Amino acid sequence: MLREIVVYPDKRLKFISKEVSAYNGALHDLLDDMYDTMIACNGVGLAAIQIGVASRVLIINIPLEDNGGDSYGEERNPHDQPKENTLEMINPVIVEADGTEKFQEGCLSVPGFYEDVERAKHVKVTYFDREGVQHTLEDDDFLAVAIQHEIDHLDGKVFIEKLSYIKRKKFEKDWKRKQKEGLI
Ligand SMILES: [Zn+2]
Repeated sequence: MLREIVVYPDKRLKFISKEVSAYNGALHDLLDDMYDTMIACNGVGLAAIQIGVASRVLIINIPLEDNGGDSYGEERNPHDQPKENTLEMINPVIVEADGTEKFQEGCLSVPGFYEDVERAKHVKVTYFDREGVQHTLEDDDFLAVAIQHEIDHLDGKVFIEKLSYIKRKKFEKDWKRKQKEGLI
């Protein structure tokens, strides 16, 4: 089922999401709705709070053909994102992070805006799947960027908070103008 995307500066994007304790049908429905919504919006990642649910749940689906592209959050061809390729992470925790890398990011909650963000190059993360089985994953490429971006959402952070003061100011001004003009 499609759910509505929470758009910046909605206050819910600042919520600290709560840990999931029940790996039940409600969680599976949430994950399925998140996938449907992300695909409908041509996204590559989505945190539960972006559909208004403050649970530590995120999904990432990196398109098969265009593995990464130039920008995280860029519009994608949905045919390249089969559901079985979706990485579902419940209660994810970054246990190691090192190096730095700049990558252009976007976000379904900040539609149409892309900017370079600096993050760790390599991360190791532990998480649970929809059945409650724990996994560990390491990456030093596009997926590492995606994981850090989405986990930030679980902690009430949006990528624009990582912009320099000047870029952030310009963003806020442009965003207000777009809102006034009804473009968002
Ligand atoms: Zn985002």
